[in-house]
Amino acid sequence: MSAVPLIDPFARPISYLRVSVTDRCDFRCVYCMAENMTFLPKKELLTLEELDRMCSAFIRMGVEKLRITGGEPLVRRGIMTFFQSMTRHLDSGALQELTLTTNGSQLARFADDLVAAGVRRINVSLDTLDDEKFARVTRWGRLPQVLNGIDAAQKAGLRVKINTVALKGFNEDELFRLTEWCAERDMDLTFIEVMPMGDLGGEDRVGQYWSLKDLRGQLAEQYTLKDLDHRTGGPARYVELGETGQQVGFITPLTHNFCESCNRVRLTCTGELFMCLGQEDNADLRTPLRASEADDVLEDAIRAAIARKPKGHDFDYSRQKADGQVSRHMSHTGG
Ligand code: SAM
Ligand code: SF4
Repeated sequence: MSAVPLIDPFARPISYLRVSVTDRCDFRCVYCMAENMTFLPKKELLTLEELDRMCSAFIRMGVEKLRITGGEPLVRRGIMTFFQSMTRHLDSGALQELTLTTNGSQLARFADDLVAAGVRRINVSLDTLDDEKFARVTRWGRLPQVLNGIDAAQKAGLRVKINTVALKGFNEDELFRLTEWCAERDMDLTFIEVMPMGDLGGEDRVGQYWSLKDLRGQLAEQYTLKDLDHRTGGPARYVELGETGQQVGFITPLTHNFCESCNRVRLTCTGELFMCLGQEDNADLRTPLRASEADDVLEDAIRAAIARKPKGHDFDYSRQKADGQVSRHMSHTGG
């Protein structure tokens, strides 16, 4: 790190950047995208070189953890070039972790390359182990392809964590099956409460809001849960299952306020910086990036944006409608 570190107005150091590298995806998960999505014209996207410049600026300013997401990051053409270019920051020690969140569909192709680039852990999103349900929730996805991808990732030496969106009436009955499957394969598991983003109320609804408090209660009927203190720099809280030793995480943006420890910001594939997942305020970093070949204009814009990072978000399901709802989709901001 060479520049003055980024600290927000509430004294939180910004050390974690999530970068969406594309808004496109080979799946159409019902809680994330409409079936007929209109994607951004290619020229709107940051090029791979611009993504490198952007991430490198953040790393100079104190970002130690980079999570690549999307859309589906592994469908972006040439994305391995970008991963390979980030390896230099791991080698220099400035970057502690380079990781990604993926739907797993392309892992069989890319697992070895990811390891070679320095990726050690990945998150794979998977909501069900049932072929038919998987096809229903992802609309375009096929389960065997993802399971092959997970196999390839583990074989390549990647540590895999499974992220499962909790959907009442959809995967409620798979709670134990998913947990056991992850334990057998030595994978940690994190449940995510569905967030009021995108089109949740439409005809494609496959499930409803399933509170993780309820989910946790059901898990406790079969396992001994021990609360763990550690955090991974993310909003998840973890328990250890006494019987298997496996860790299970809960991301509860709606029922638990994790904002006080928020160390993260999100960059979209068009170069907008969202200082908070639950707020609309964002800063355009593409214009300052393109304004000059030197990075000082960009660094000033990043500092000005961080100075606007809000204290927290306003999601709230306890009222009639999903208050604090933001209209953009997760695939835009990057989950
Ligand atoms: N395509 C990749 C994947 O699915 O892992 C990365 C992007 S995806 C937007 C990141 C995460 O956001 C996934 O785990 C997905 O399940 C989650 N997600 C998408 N829409 C969501 C919503 N409305 N509520 C909660 N999680 C959501
Ligand atoms: Fe694609 Fe991930 Fe969104 Fe599913 S959750 S549609 S895999 S971006």
